[in-house]
Amino acid sequence: MNLLHIIENEMLAKHTAWRIGGPARYYAKATTIEDLRAGLEWAEQRNLPFFLIGGGTNLLVRDTGFPGLVMHYVNRTWRVTSETLQHETLGATGTLYVEAGAPMAGTVRRIAAQGWAGLEWAEGLPGAVGGAVYGNAGCYGGDIASTLIRAWVLVNDQLEEWPVQQFAYGYRTSLLKRLELENERLHQIETTKSTSQTSKIYRRAPIVLAAEFKLVRADPADLAEKMAAIATERKGKTPWGSSCGSVFKNPPGQSAGRLIEQTGLKGARCGAAEISQRHGNYIVNMGGARSDDVLHLIEMARSAVLRQFEIELELEVRIL
Ligand SMILES: Cc1cc2nc3c(=O)[nH]c(=O)nc-3n(C[C@H](O)[C@H](O)[C@H](O)COP(=O)(O)OP(=O)(O)OC[C@H]3O[C@@H](n4cnc5c(N)ncnc54)[C@H](O)[C@@H]3O)c2cc1C
Repeated sequence: MNLLHIIENEMLAKHTAWRIGGPARYYAKATTIEDLRAGLEWAEQRNLPFFLIGGGTNLLVRDTGFPGLVMHYVNRTWRVTSETLQHETLGATGTLYVEAGAPMAGTVRRIAAQGWAGLEWAEGLPGAVGGAVYGNAGCYGGDIASTLIRAWVLVNDQLEEWPVQQFAYGYRTSLLKRLELENERLHQIETTKSTSQTSKIYRRAPIVLAAEFKLVRADPADLAEKMAAIATERKGKTPWGSSCGSVFKNPPGQSAGRLIEQTGLKGARCGAAEISQRHGNYIVNMGGARSDDVLHLIEMARSAVLRQFEIELELEVRIL
């Protein structure tokens, strides 16, 4: 087992796409399941909360930071296995095994260059595989729920293999996400009751270690063309500057960005954070924004949409 290299007071702004976030009391990288287990045990022995970060692209970390151990799973190993002997034949099937620390977009680009289709919708999707599996990331006609076969998950120190059904996926949500949010809610109840009782509330949601996806043989040139079109469309829609993508989920049959736009809040500013002029569902850090600036804009947008349309917007980003 590698010895964990634990850093104190690591600024999480360095690890989030918003470039916002105070210090993690402790921070360590994990390259193996043993590292993760060691980190979990280390935190538990000290009665500290634990948080796993992926690419930090769907995360708002408060400026007050995190009072426990933040771990970053960095294993990026992947391999493609063909399921048929005629594996060069168009339409032949295969699978991608990939560790949770691998970048989603980079991995997809590599397998597409080898002529494997199935994940090209994730061209340009920021973040790591583990974060995407956790939140059922999706775009351009695809999502994790429709392409994942199974994943390997660490549940209370036990390694389990979960078929896709076990994740109980919904739009930008999963059993993992629901468990984590429920734990957080319990934590808030416990801390308001008594700070001395908080030890048991740091039960963790399962950790994704690796995932397996369905693949189909396709012409690399066709794939490259399709992905170039997605890249161009994505580039055209994405505002300049540091952001976390869509802040809110789209309510059924509606676009959160359009609703916010209709409230006239595009371009609204708080400190150095701005509701993007280009996309109402993006909040951009214009340089030096604080977490409270973003939280203020989130509240403004949420209450304006509620007032004007009687629609309650639900957060897509995770607040730590
Ligand atoms: C410019 C931009 C555009 C975006 N466009 C899209 C889009 O088109 N579609 C879309 O769906 N999203 C989009 N996003 C959001 C983001 O890319 C996805 O949600 C992504 O899947 C998050 O992955 P991550 O590794 O960065 O997760 P993080 O932000 O690091 O973490 C998010 C949550 O996942 C949990 N988590 C991370 N890794 C694991 C793991 N291994 N096991 C268990 N839990 C884990 C964390 O604890 C946290 O609660 C965009 C973001 C940006 C910045």
